[in-house]
Amino acid sequence: MLVDGHGREVSYLRVSVTERCNFRCQYCMPEKPFSWVPKENLLTFEELFIFVKVGIDEGIRKIRITGGEPLLRQDLDKFIKMISDYRSDLDLALTTNGFLLEECAKSLRDAGLKRINVSLDTLKDDVAYKIAGKDVLKKVKKGIEKALEVGLGVKVNNVPLKGINDGEIVEVLEYCKDRGISIRFIEYMENVHAKDKLEGLSEDEIKDIISTKYSFKELKREASSPSKIFELKDGYRFGIINPHAHDFCEDCNRIRLTAEGMLIPCLYFEEALSIAKAVKEGDIKRASEILREVLINKPEKNKWSESSKNETSTRAFYETGG
Ligand code: SAM
Ligand code: SF4
Repeated sequence: MLVDGHGREVSYLRVSVTERCNFRCQYCMPEKPFSWVPKENLLTFEELFIFVKVGIDEGIRKIRITGGEPLLRQDLDKFIKMISDYRSDLDLALTTNGFLLEECAKSLRDAGLKRINVSLDTLKDDVAYKIAGKDVLKKVKKGIEKALEVGLGVKVNNVPLKGINDGEIVEVLEYCKDRGISIRFIEYMENVHAKDKLEGLSEDEIKDIISTKYSFKELKREASSPSKIFELKDGYRFGIINPHAHDFCEDCNRIRLTAEGMLIPCLYFEEALSIAKAVKEGDIKRASEILREVLINKPEKNKWSESSKNETSTRAFYETGG
Protein backbone atom coordinates (compact mmCIF):
# COMPACT_ATOMS: atom_id res chain seq x y z
CA MET A 1 0.00 0.00 0.00
CA LEU A 2 1.22 3.54 -0.80
CA VAL A 3 0.70 6.16 1.89
CA ASP A 4 1.72 9.82 1.70
CA GLY A 5 3.28 12.03 4.36
CA HIS A 6 -0.18 13.03 5.64
CA GLY A 7 -1.40 9.44 6.06
CA ARG A 8 -3.52 9.40 2.90
CA GLU A 9 -3.55 6.17 0.90
CA VAL A 10 -2.52 6.81 -2.71
CA SER A 11 -3.96 4.36 -5.24
CA TYR A 12 -4.59 6.54 -8.31
CA LEU A 13 -2.00 7.38 -10.98
CA ARG A 14 -2.72 9.82 -13.80
CA VAL A 15 -0.36 9.38 -16.74
CA SER A 16 -0.02 12.20 -19.26
CA VAL A 17 1.27 10.71 -22.52
CA THR A 18 1.82 14.04 -24.32
CA GLU A 19 1.56 17.74 -23.53
CA ARG A 20 0.66 18.51 -27.15
CA CYS A 21 -2.89 19.25 -28.10
CA ASN A 22 -5.04 19.87 -31.16
CA PHE A 23 -7.21 22.36 -29.19
CA ARG A 24 -6.27 25.65 -27.54
CA CYS A 25 -8.86 25.83 -24.78
CA GLN A 26 -8.99 29.27 -23.22
CA TYR A 27 -8.78 27.88 -19.69
CA CYS A 28 -5.83 25.59 -20.45
CA MET A 29 -3.50 26.83 -23.22
CA PRO A 30 -4.88 29.67 -25.35
CA GLU A 31 -1.53 30.14 -27.10
CA LYS A 32 0.92 27.49 -28.20
CA PRO A 33 3.33 27.04 -25.30
CA PHE A 34 6.62 28.87 -25.80
CA SER A 35 8.38 25.60 -26.42
CA TRP A 36 7.03 22.09 -26.60
CA VAL A 37 9.04 19.42 -24.87
CA PRO A 38 11.24 18.04 -27.68
CA LYS A 39 9.97 14.66 -28.88
CA GLU A 40 13.22 12.95 -27.84
CA ASN A 41 12.54 13.92 -24.20
CA LEU A 42 9.27 11.98 -24.18
CA LEU A 43 9.42 8.62 -22.49
CA THR A 44 8.52 5.71 -24.72
CA PHE A 45 5.51 3.61 -23.78
CA GLU A 46 7.92 0.86 -22.70
CA GLU A 47 9.64 3.31 -20.32
CA LEU A 48 6.37 4.67 -18.96
CA PHE A 49 5.19 1.10 -18.49
CA ILE A 50 8.22 0.29 -16.29
CA PHE A 51 7.02 2.95 -13.85
CA VAL A 52 3.37 1.96 -14.21
CA LYS A 53 4.28 -1.59 -13.18
CA VAL A 54 6.17 -0.31 -10.12
CA GLY A 55 3.09 1.70 -9.16
CA ILE A 56 0.72 -1.24 -9.64
CA ASP A 57 2.99 -3.59 -7.69
CA GLU A 58 2.99 -1.10 -4.81
CA GLY A 59 -0.75 -0.43 -4.69
CA ILE A 60 -1.96 1.69 -7.62
CA ARG A 61 -5.44 0.44 -8.58
CA LYS A 62 -6.72 3.20 -10.81
CA ILE A 63 -4.93 4.62 -13.84
CA ARG A 64 -6.13 7.46 -16.04
CA ILE A 65 -4.39 8.25 -19.33
CA THR A 66 -4.48 11.94 -20.12
CA GLY A 67 -2.54 14.80 -21.73
CA GLY A 68 -2.44 17.29 -23.58
CA GLU A 69 -4.58 15.32 -25.93
CA PRO A 70 -3.74 11.63 -25.38
CA LEU A 71 -5.30 10.47 -28.66
CA LEU A 72 -2.59 12.37 -30.53
CA ARG A 73 -0.02 9.87 -29.35
CA GLN A 74 0.47 7.04 -31.83
CA ASP A 75 -0.13 3.47 -30.71
CA LEU A 76 -1.91 4.52 -27.54
CA ASP A 77 -4.00 1.35 -27.76
CA LYS A 78 -0.80 -0.71 -27.45
CA PHE A 79 0.11 1.12 -24.21
CA ILE A 80 -3.38 0.53 -22.86
CA LYS A 81 -3.12 -3.15 -23.72
CA MET A 82 0.26 -3.42 -21.93
CA ILE A 83 -1.33 -2.04 -18.76
CA SER A 84 -4.54 -4.02 -19.07
CA ASP A 85 -2.68 -7.30 -19.70
CA TYR A 86 -0.50 -6.67 -16.64
CA ARG A 87 -3.48 -6.27 -14.33
CA SER A 88 -6.92 -6.68 -15.82
CA ASP A 89 -8.90 -5.62 -12.73
CA LEU A 90 -7.50 -2.07 -12.76
CA ASP A 91 -9.88 0.84 -13.15
CA LEU A 92 -8.37 1.94 -16.48
CA ALA A 93 -9.73 5.20 -17.90
CA LEU A 94 -8.83 8.00 -20.30
CA THR A 95 -9.64 11.71 -20.56
CA THR A 96 -9.90 13.21 -24.04
CA ASN A 97 -11.24 16.22 -25.88
CA GLY A 98 -13.03 13.69 -28.11
CA PHE A 99 -11.91 15.10 -31.46
CA LEU A 100 -10.23 11.86 -32.60
CA LEU A 101 -12.42 9.53 -30.59
CA GLU A 102 -14.74 8.34 -33.34
CA GLU A 103 -11.79 6.76 -35.15
CA CYS A 104 -10.22 5.04 -32.17
CA ALA A 105 -12.98 4.25 -29.62
CA LYS A 106 -13.21 0.61 -30.71
CA SER A 107 -9.48 -0.09 -30.68
CA LEU A 108 -9.18 1.52 -27.25
CA ARG A 109 -11.99 -0.63 -25.91
CA ASP A 110 -10.51 -3.75 -27.50
CA ALA A 111 -7.17 -2.91 -25.85
CA GLY A 112 -8.81 -3.01 -22.41
CA LEU A 113 -9.90 0.59 -21.77
CA LYS A 114 -12.99 0.65 -19.57
CA ARG A 115 -14.02 4.24 -19.19
CA ILE A 116 -13.61 7.53 -20.95
CA ASN A 117 -14.17 11.16 -19.92
CA VAL A 118 -14.86 13.56 -22.76
CA SER A 119 -14.65 17.32 -22.35
CA LEU A 120 -17.83 18.97 -23.63
CA ASP A 121 -18.14 22.60 -22.62
CA THR A 122 -20.93 23.64 -24.97
CA LEU A 123 -23.50 22.43 -27.51
CA LYS A 124 -23.07 25.48 -29.73
CA ASP A 125 -20.63 25.35 -32.66
CA ASP A 126 -19.57 28.98 -32.32
CA VAL A 127 -19.00 28.73 -28.57
CA ALA A 128 -16.95 25.55 -29.06
CA TYR A 129 -14.91 27.47 -31.64
CA LYS A 130 -14.42 30.31 -29.20
CA ILE A 131 -13.29 28.04 -26.37
CA ALA A 132 -11.11 25.57 -28.31
CA GLY A 133 -9.86 27.86 -31.06
CA LYS A 134 -11.25 25.77 -33.90
CA ASP A 135 -14.40 24.15 -35.22
CA VAL A 136 -14.57 21.03 -33.07
CA LEU A 137 -18.07 20.33 -31.83
CA LYS A 138 -19.44 18.01 -34.54
CA LYS A 139 -16.50 15.65 -34.28
CA VAL A 140 -16.56 15.67 -30.48
CA LYS A 141 -20.25 14.71 -30.47
CA LYS A 142 -19.60 11.91 -32.99
CA GLY A 143 -16.79 10.70 -30.72
CA ILE A 144 -19.15 10.54 -27.75
CA GLU A 145 -21.76 8.60 -29.75
CA LYS A 146 -19.12 6.13 -30.95
CA ALA A 147 -17.75 5.59 -27.45
CA LEU A 148 -21.27 4.78 -26.23
CA GLU A 149 -21.85 2.49 -29.22
CA VAL A 150 -18.75 0.38 -28.55
CA GLY A 151 -19.68 0.04 -24.88
CA LEU A 152 -17.17 2.30 -23.15
CA GLY A 153 -18.33 3.89 -19.91
CA VAL A 154 -18.66 7.59 -20.78
CA LYS A 155 -18.61 10.68 -18.57
CA VAL A 156 -18.55 14.31 -19.64
CA ASN A 157 -16.40 17.07 -18.13
CA ASN A 158 -17.61 20.66 -18.41
CA VAL A 159 -15.87 23.86 -17.24
CA PRO A 160 -18.50 26.64 -16.95
CA LEU A 161 -17.11 30.10 -17.71
CA LYS A 162 -18.87 33.41 -17.11
CA GLY A 163 -20.17 35.04 -20.26
CA ILE A 164 -19.02 32.15 -22.47
CA ASN A 165 -20.89 28.89 -21.81
CA ASP A 166 -22.68 29.54 -18.51
CA GLY A 167 -26.01 29.97 -20.30
CA GLU A 168 -25.96 26.31 -21.38
CA ILE A 169 -25.48 24.44 -18.12
CA VAL A 170 -28.99 22.95 -18.13
CA GLU A 171 -28.83 22.09 -21.85
CA VAL A 172 -25.52 20.24 -21.54
CA LEU A 173 -26.81 18.43 -18.47
CA GLU A 174 -29.89 17.36 -20.44
CA TYR A 175 -27.80 16.24 -23.43
CA CYS A 176 -25.94 13.93 -21.03
CA LYS A 177 -29.04 12.86 -19.12
CA ASP A 178 -30.79 11.84 -22.36
CA ARG A 179 -27.87 9.53 -23.15
CA GLY A 180 -27.39 8.12 -19.64
CA ILE A 181 -24.02 9.88 -19.37
CA SER A 182 -22.92 11.38 -16.09
CA ILE A 183 -21.65 14.97 -16.25
CA ARG A 184 -19.17 16.61 -13.93
CA PHE A 185 -18.99 20.40 -13.81
CA ILE A 186 -15.46 21.50 -12.92
CA GLU A 187 -14.86 24.88 -11.30
CA TYR A 188 -12.34 26.79 -13.38
CA MET A 189 -8.93 26.50 -11.72
CA GLU A 190 -6.99 29.73 -12.07
CA ASN A 191 -3.59 29.20 -13.66
CA VAL A 192 -1.09 31.42 -15.45
CA HIS A 193 -1.40 29.55 -18.76
CA ALA A 194 -5.09 30.37 -19.20
CA LYS A 195 -6.38 33.37 -21.10
CA ASP A 196 -6.45 36.58 -19.05
CA LYS A 197 -9.59 37.60 -17.19
CA LEU A 198 -11.40 34.29 -17.43
CA GLU A 199 -13.89 33.76 -14.65
CA GLY A 200 -15.37 30.42 -13.75
CA LEU A 201 -18.66 29.66 -12.01
CA SER A 202 -18.59 28.51 -8.41
CA GLU A 203 -20.27 25.36 -7.18
CA ASP A 204 -23.12 27.45 -5.72
CA GLU A 205 -23.61 29.35 -8.96
CA ILE A 206 -23.78 26.09 -10.93
CA LYS A 207 -26.29 24.63 -8.46
CA ASP A 208 -28.42 27.79 -8.58
CA ILE A 209 -28.67 27.53 -12.36
CA ILE A 210 -29.62 23.85 -12.32
CA SER A 211 -32.17 24.45 -9.57
CA THR A 212 -34.09 26.84 -11.83
CA LYS A 213 -35.31 23.71 -13.64
CA TYR A 214 -34.61 20.69 -11.43
CA SER A 215 -34.67 19.92 -7.74
CA PHE A 216 -31.88 17.69 -6.50
CA LYS A 217 -30.22 16.47 -3.34
CA GLU A 218 -26.57 16.00 -2.48
CA LEU A 219 -25.43 12.40 -1.96
CA LYS A 220 -22.59 11.21 0.22
CA ARG A 221 -19.30 11.79 -1.60
CA GLU A 222 -17.48 8.63 -2.67
CA ALA A 223 -14.22 8.22 -0.75
CA SER A 224 -11.32 9.97 -2.51
CA SER A 225 -13.50 11.27 -5.33
CA PRO A 226 -12.89 14.97 -6.01
CA SER A 227 -16.49 15.26 -7.16
CA LYS A 228 -19.55 16.06 -5.06
CA ILE A 229 -22.50 14.04 -6.36
CA PHE A 230 -26.08 15.30 -6.73
CA GLU A 231 -29.22 13.36 -7.66
CA LEU A 232 -32.26 14.67 -9.52
CA LYS A 233 -35.71 13.40 -8.56
CA ASP A 234 -35.66 10.87 -11.43
CA GLY A 235 -32.40 9.36 -10.14
CA TYR A 236 -30.04 11.00 -12.68
CA ARG A 237 -26.74 11.94 -11.04
CA PHE A 238 -24.34 14.75 -11.84
CA GLY A 239 -21.17 15.93 -10.14
CA ILE A 240 -19.45 19.19 -9.29
CA ILE A 241 -15.70 19.40 -8.71
CA ASN A 242 -14.88 22.25 -6.38
CA PRO A 243 -11.11 22.54 -5.89
CA HIS A 244 -11.65 25.87 -4.11
CA ALA A 245 -13.39 24.11 -1.20
CA HIS A 246 -11.37 23.56 1.94
CA ASP A 247 -12.14 19.83 2.14
CA PHE A 248 -11.17 19.08 -1.50
CA CYS A 249 -7.71 17.72 -0.63
CA GLU A 250 -8.61 15.86 2.57
CA ASP A 251 -8.57 12.38 1.07
CA CYS A 252 -6.63 13.05 -2.14
CA ASN A 253 -5.42 9.68 -3.43
CA ARG A 254 -3.60 10.67 -6.62
CA ILE A 255 -0.24 11.39 -8.17
CA ARG A 256 0.60 12.43 -11.70
CA LEU A 257 3.26 11.37 -14.18
CA THR A 258 4.11 13.58 -17.16
CA ALA A 259 5.15 12.35 -20.59
CA GLU A 260 8.77 13.23 -19.89
CA GLY A 261 8.77 11.36 -16.59
CA MET A 262 8.17 14.04 -13.96
CA LEU A 263 6.30 12.62 -11.00
CA ILE A 264 4.06 15.33 -9.58
CA PRO A 265 2.51 15.06 -6.13
CA CYS A 266 -0.04 17.90 -6.48
CA LEU A 267 -1.77 19.60 -9.40
CA TYR A 268 -1.27 23.08 -7.94
CA PHE A 269 2.46 23.11 -7.22
CA GLU A 270 5.60 22.97 -9.38
CA GLU A 271 7.41 20.42 -7.18
CA ALA A 272 8.20 17.16 -9.00
CA LEU A 273 10.91 14.50 -9.27
CA SER A 274 12.02 12.79 -12.47
CA ILE A 275 11.81 9.03 -12.87
CA ALA A 276 13.21 9.28 -16.44
CA LYS A 277 16.78 8.16 -15.66
CA ALA A 278 15.58 5.29 -13.47
CA VAL A 279 13.21 3.84 -16.09
CA LYS A 280 15.67 4.36 -18.97
CA GLU A 281 18.19 2.31 -16.99
CA GLY A 282 15.53 -0.23 -15.99
CA ASP A 283 16.31 0.59 -12.34
CA ILE A 284 13.09 -0.50 -10.66
CA LYS A 285 14.47 -0.06 -7.15
CA ARG A 286 15.33 3.60 -7.83
CA ALA A 287 11.95 4.23 -9.49
CA SER A 288 10.26 2.85 -6.39
CA GLU A 289 12.42 5.04 -4.09
CA ILE A 290 11.50 8.16 -6.08
CA LEU A 291 7.83 7.23 -5.87
CA ARG A 292 8.05 7.05 -2.07
CA GLU A 293 10.03 10.29 -1.88
CA VAL A 294 7.35 12.09 -3.89
CA LEU A 295 4.63 10.68 -1.65
CA ILE A 296 6.36 11.74 1.55
CA ASN A 297 6.52 15.29 0.19
CA LYS A 298 2.98 15.40 -1.22
CA PRO A 299 1.50 18.75 -0.10
CA GLU A 300 -1.41 18.65 2.31
CA LYS A 301 -3.59 20.86 0.12
CA ASN A 302 -3.71 23.09 -2.93
CA LYS A 303 -3.91 26.86 -2.61
CA TRP A 304 -6.90 27.58 -4.86
CA SER A 305 -9.12 28.08 -1.84
CA GLU A 306 -6.98 31.00 -0.71
CA SER A 307 -5.70 32.22 -4.07
CA SER A 308 -6.27 35.80 -4.95
CA LYS A 309 -6.18 36.41 -8.67
CA ASN A 310 -2.57 37.58 -8.20
CA GLU A 311 -1.32 34.34 -6.72
CA THR A 312 -2.32 31.34 -8.72
CA SER A 313 -1.01 28.03 -9.97
CA THR A 314 1.85 28.09 -12.45
CA ARG A 315 1.44 24.41 -13.34
CA ALA A 316 0.25 23.82 -16.88
CA PHE A 317 -2.84 21.61 -17.08
CA TYR A 318 -1.87 20.49 -20.57
CA GLU A 319 1.35 19.13 -19.06
CA THR A 320 -0.08 17.44 -15.98
CA GLY A 321 -3.27 16.23 -17.59
CA GLY A 322 -5.67 18.08 -15.29
N1 SAM B 1 -7.19 17.07 -23.61
C1 SAM B 1 -8.00 16.26 -22.74
C2 SAM B 1 -9.29 16.95 -22.40
O1 SAM B 1 -9.40 18.15 -22.64
O2 SAM B 1 -10.18 16.29 -21.89
C3 SAM B 1 -7.30 15.80 -21.50
C4 SAM B 1 -6.42 16.79 -20.78
S1 SAM B 1 -7.29 18.15 -20.05
C5 SAM B 1 -5.96 19.05 -19.31
C6 SAM B 1 -8.13 17.34 -18.70
C7 SAM B 1 -9.28 18.09 -18.10
O3 SAM B 1 -8.80 19.25 -17.47
C8 SAM B 1 -10.34 18.53 -19.10
O4 SAM B 1 -11.59 18.05 -18.70
C9 SAM B 1 -10.30 20.04 -19.02
O5 SAM B 1 -11.57 20.59 -19.20
C10 SAM B 1 -9.77 20.25 -17.63
N2 SAM B 1 -9.12 21.54 -17.44
C11 SAM B 1 -8.09 22.06 -18.16
N3 SAM B 1 -7.77 23.28 -17.69
C12 SAM B 1 -8.60 23.54 -16.65
C13 SAM B 1 -8.77 24.63 -15.75
N4 SAM B 1 -8.00 25.70 -15.81
N5 SAM B 1 -9.73 24.55 -14.80
C14 SAM B 1 -10.52 23.46 -14.73
N6 SAM B 1 -10.41 22.38 -15.53
C15 SAM B 1 -9.47 22.42 -16.49
FE1 SF4 C 1 -6.11 20.51 -25.00
FE2 SF4 C 1 -7.53 19.36 -23.07
FE3 SF4 C 1 -6.10 21.58 -22.59
FE4 SF4 C 1 -8.25 21.75 -24.11
S1 SF4 C 1 -8.22 21.15 -21.93
S2 SF4 C 1 -6.25 22.67 -24.58
S3 SF4 C 1 -8.26 19.84 -25.14
S4 SF4 C 1 -5.29 19.60 -23.11
